[in-house]
Amino acid sequence: MLVEDVNYCPRCGTRLEEKERAGKVRPVCPDCDWIFFPDPKVAVASIVIQAGKVLLVQRAHQPFRGKWMLPAGFVDAGEDPEDAALREVFEETNLNVRLQELWMVLSGQEYDKGAHILIVYKAAILGGELSAGDDAVQAGFFNLDALPPLAFSSTKEILSTL
Ligand SMILES: [Zn+2]
Repeated sequence: MLVEDVNYCPRCGTRLEEKERAGKVRPVCPDCDWIFFPDPKVAVASIVIQAGKVLLVQRAHQPFRGKWMLPAGFVDAGEDPEDAALREVFEETNLNVRLQELWMVLSGQEYDKGAHILIVYKAAILGGELSAGDDAVQAGFFNLDALPPLAFSSTKEILSTL
């Protein structure tokens, strides 16, 4: 479900009303007929393996602060998801990587402001000195049989495919 509270028309400021449009009741502007179509939020995550260990980052923010996840983040509007994946790995771990393959695509929102669609790549390290940054307080490599507490069930699902 994509539910958001939108009360006013972003185009003309009129209070929206619920009307049937395109097969559903949707918020519609009675003045200029703008229709609110919620878009899915898209995120990318990268699987980076080195010497049999997987790269994880520890979340600096809620929800799930202190839990670990793959380097990941939202795709900006207009941004290529591949560029977003490279950017997020660099921002959170200071490592430069190259993408090797599209690994999987998951759907389903895990928390209120979370992504609806998660694109997962496999990536290999090109260079850089590992250090946590941006939304991550720590970054490190972990054996798959000795993982730290994970933030998302999607992370468990992804790691179970390795
Ligand atoms: Zn309007």
